Parts: sequence; C-alpha cells; structure tokens
Amino acid sequence: MSCAGRAGPARLAALALLTCSLWPVRADNASQEYYTALINVTVQEPGRGTPLTFRIDRGRYGLDSPKAEVRGQVLAPLPLHGVADHLGCDPQTRFFVPPNIKQWIALLQRGNCTFKEKISRAAFHNAVAVVIYNNKSKEEPVTMTHPGTGDIIAVMITELRGKDILSYLEKNISVQMTIAVGTRMPPKNFSRGSLVFVSISFIVLMIISSAWLIFYFIQKIRYTNARDRNQRRLGDAAKKAISKLTTRTVKKGDKETDPDFDHCAVCIESYKQNDVVRILPCKHVFHKSCVDPWLSEHCTCPMCKLNILKALGIVPNLPCTDNVAFDMERLTRTQAVNRRSALGDLAGDNSLSLEPLRTSGISPLPQDGELTPRTGEINIAVTR
Ligand SMILES: [Zn+2]
Ligand SMILES: [Zn+2]
Repeated sequence: MSCAGRAGPARLAALALLTCSLWPVRADNASQEYYTALINVTVQEPGRGTPLTFRIDRGRYGLDSPKAEVRGQVLAPLPLHGVADHLGCDPQTRFFVPPNIKQWIALLQRGNCTFKEKISRAAFHNAVAVVIYNNKSKEEPVTMTHPGTGDIIAVMITELRGKDILSYLEKNISVQMTIAVGTRMPPKNFSRGSLVFVSISFIVLMIISSAWLIFYFIQKIRYTNARDRNQRRLGDAAKKAISKLTTRTVKKGDKETDPDFDHCAVCIESYKQNDVVRILPCKHVFHKSCVDPWLSEHCTCPMCKLNILKALGIVPNLPCTDNVAFDMERLTRTQAVNRRSALGDLAGDNSLSLEPLRTSGISPLPQDGELTPRTGEINIAVTR
C-alpha cells in the first residue's frame, strides 16, 4: 500500500490520509489478538494428605501454538556443569523424565535465546508443552511468536508464578499442570502511534471542511448580491415599462362590460363601468390596480407570460422568469381567495367583502428572492 499523497480532489486526499493513518494499526504486532490460558497447578507435597492446588491467571498462548488443552507433569532442565539451567538455551540442556511419566511440560525462563529455540529444544526432548515464565517481575506475559515449532503447546506466565513452581521442583516436589484455552482477546485497535495519525487526519479533514464551507458562503454571498442587483435593475425597468403601457377607463357599452368578456385573470372579477384597466402589448386586459404590482415584480403578463420589457424594447437581457414557480403558486392562492370572496357575496352579506392581492405598494420588489412564502404579499382587508 502506498501512502504517498497525490494532488486531487479534497475527498480523495482525506480518504488517503485516513487509510494511511489506519495502516500502522495493522502493522503493529503487539496489537494482535491472543488467547488466554487457564492453568491449574496441583502440588503433591510428601507427607501431606491432600494436594495443594492453585490457579495461574494471566497465562497467554503463544501466537504459533495450537490452542488446545494439555495435561502433564512439570519438569525444569537439569543443572548444566553444576550450574542451574533455567533458560533452556544451551544445546546441552537436558531434562530428567521419570520412567512412569507419559506426558510432561517443560518450565523455562524467558531470555538469552528466542522463544522458538526454547520451544524447539523442549519439543526435541518430547515435551507436550512448554511454559515460559517472564524474566521481569513487573511485566505481563506477552504473545510469543515462534513459527515452525509444530504441535507443541507454548504458554507464557508471569515471573512470580514461574518461580513459585520452580521452587517446588527444586525441592523435588511433584507438580502437575493442566492448561486449557481461555478467551480470545480481540486486537487492540488503537496504539499510540495510530492515535496520533488519526488525530492528524481529523485535523486535516477539519481544515478541508472549513475551507470548503468558507468558499461555499463566499460564493453564496456573491450570488445573492448579484441577484439583488439584477432585481433592482428589473424593478426600475418594470416601472419604466408600466409607465409606457396604455390605460383606459371602462365606459358604458365597452366590450369589457360584456358578460362574455374574460374576467380579470388576477382577481377573477368582471369589469364594471369606471374601472381603470391596463392593456398589455399582448392585448390582455387586467385591472390596473391588479396588474401593476404584479408587473413591477415579475414584468410578465400573468396570462401568457409575455415579457413586457422585451415587448417594449426595454433592457431585453433581463431575466423575468426566475420566479415562475412561485408566481403560479401565488396566482392559485389568489384565485382561491377570490372564490371564497365570491361565495361570501353569494351568501347575501354584501356589507362584507374580501379584498385580495393588494401589495403594500411602496416596495413591491422581494428582497430575499427565495421560494418561501412572503408575509404581507396578500392582504385580506375585511371592510364593513
Ligand atoms: Zn382584477
Ligand atoms: Zn398576455
């Protein structure tokens, strides 16, 4: 696996960093899984009726050892040239195996040579298992690595417990041992080195995210400013266009007063005598009071969406259709209000009327420009 950084999208870089930070966790041998060993010791002291039994905690199977149960008599190496041999490193190391013993377990101290050498030497002398005790009293047993030692079972225990057993053996007291498989201990996920790597990756990720957020907000502010500018220009252009459109007062006998003539599409009401109407370049007719606020905001015909700025040759490049979705929604709402108003009239109470869609008039331009409902756009005045 390559951890070399490459220029590219921020996400890929972050992913690579994260992968690199996790790599040392796998490479760290100390964080591998291991199996605990349950060790029971029986000491048969001469002249004592019941044997002494005790349990050894914190035993640990070697990485390359079979994880199996075994039982046997514990034996330490014979003295070499008159000196006690606890290590079992010397090629001359010997064990005295009593003739009535079928299975025996070698007890050796850690140090001087590799675990593999000690275990192989005991296996050579036909031991079924090797118990190696630590050589530092404060140190916990480690997971021994000893590839190629075959079927021999290898377990490590603390120095204190090893020396306990050795003291009995030195007094020629028979010690029996049972080794059984305990629990599987999962690998430790975080060593100190990997924690540093993860922290660095996290900080880098945070920096990338913050940079991206800042960039995003700058772009958003720029976009909003540009849109506001456009809308101001649009509003000015719309006012100019409205002033150029023709208005007319409906008189008796005009075609607008004909019952078959289309109603005003904004308020869905028919035209009456003395109503002031606005005629758009597309020949669509609306109440002046209905269509003027609409035009100053949208600059399109509510019926056919004709762009009046284009039709009148005023600033033809300004977009007028950015609020179409909202316009349609608002138009539908307006119509619903009108229908309710009409129903109210039908009920016979003429003193109550609903007056829909009268924009406040002074500031018809939306300042937020979002497709969110804007308060104050539809004023329903109940008048008596
Ligand atoms: Zn109208
Ligand atoms: Zn039209």
